[in-house]
Amino acid sequence: IKRIGVLTSGGDAPGMNAAIRAVVRTGLHHDLEVFGIHSGYKGLHQNDIVQLDRHSVSDVITRGGTFLGSARFPEFKDEAVRLQAVENLKQHGIDALVVIGGDGSYMGAMCLTELGFPCIGIPGTIDNDIAGTDFTIGFDTALNVAVEAIDRLRDTCSSHNRISVVEIMGRHCGDLTSSAAVAGGAEYVIVPEVAFDQSELILQIHEGVAKGKKHAIVAICENMCDVNRLAYDIQAATGRDTRATILGHIQRGGTPTAQDRIMASRMGARAVELLLEGYGGRCMGLQSNHIVHHDIIDCIKHLKRPFNEEMYQLSNTLF
Ligand code: ATP
Repeated sequence: IKRIGVLTSGGDAPGMNAAIRAVVRTGLHHDLEVFGIHSGYKGLHQNDIVQLDRHSVSDVITRGGTFLGSARFPEFKDEAVRLQAVENLKQHGIDALVVIGGDGSYMGAMCLTELGFPCIGIPGTIDNDIAGTDFTIGFDTALNVAVEAIDRLRDTCSSHNRISVVEIMGRHCGDLTSSAAVAGGAEYVIVPEVAFDQSELILQIHEGVAKGKKHAIVAICENMCDVNRLAYDIQAATGRDTRATILGHIQRGGTPTAQDRIMASRMGARAVELLLEGYGGRCMGLQSNHIVHHDIIDCIKHLKRPFNEEMYQLSNTLF
């Protein structure tokens, strides 16, 4: 191969820029020409492709988000749209592609590989919900943001004897919530992997208040319930002032942590090497601190992401 492309797709995540930088610089190191595709699969379809050089990725390692831009583009599920995308890549003489994104983006990468266009996926999402890797790029940064938010809420909760319900991202994966709960010392943790009984939670909080607990923090994963309603119900049952805080997209931005930058750099570099070794249809992972790669289909369909039960139990034990 002589020319490779790189794109970021789906929800953005801090550390994506470090991954792009690693792809570009590793490609150049191996005398490849590297092209960036703007706005994910949408830009691929619209032929929004530019050549990148060493300096295109100067000063991006510290920046959150993705300088290439990202997009949701459901039209990519249509084969005619994908064929147009392959046509655009061929027009630029691009032989292979690195796709940085979540499992939806992996599907797109798999479909392109099946059309004879080799792709390697890199897990970029704060949700940590991809199989075949212990961590996804952006998770560590988002975790630190969530912990900082919990720390701040704790200060004001303890001043006012208040109960705080904090909604944390993660889509349907509780890793971000239970890790933030452990690091932030939250009293109650609610994750999608464990059945949620609201009346049981309220009972526990009520008992805590009766025993003289001055304040409490409830860490809850998004998509579990209406947290404003939950806060209202807790207040009604306990008589304690209760507020809900939805951290939302705050968690998706900010300077990536060293851990995210390093992991993104390692995965980006190895992804290019895999393309040079003739691989396609693979995705990168970090397992037991080793860079590994798996079949994309396995990661999407067959490998199940294990629930981090230890972390969940720990948050319950330490409260
Ligand atoms: P996040 O985890 O942050 O949501 P994601 O990569 O899972 O990231 P999606 O919106 O699910 O985000 O997918 C990103 C893009 O990948 C879609 O907008 C679409 O362009 C492409 N894509 C998703 N599913 C498929 C599919 N089945 N076939 C082809 N392309 C797909």
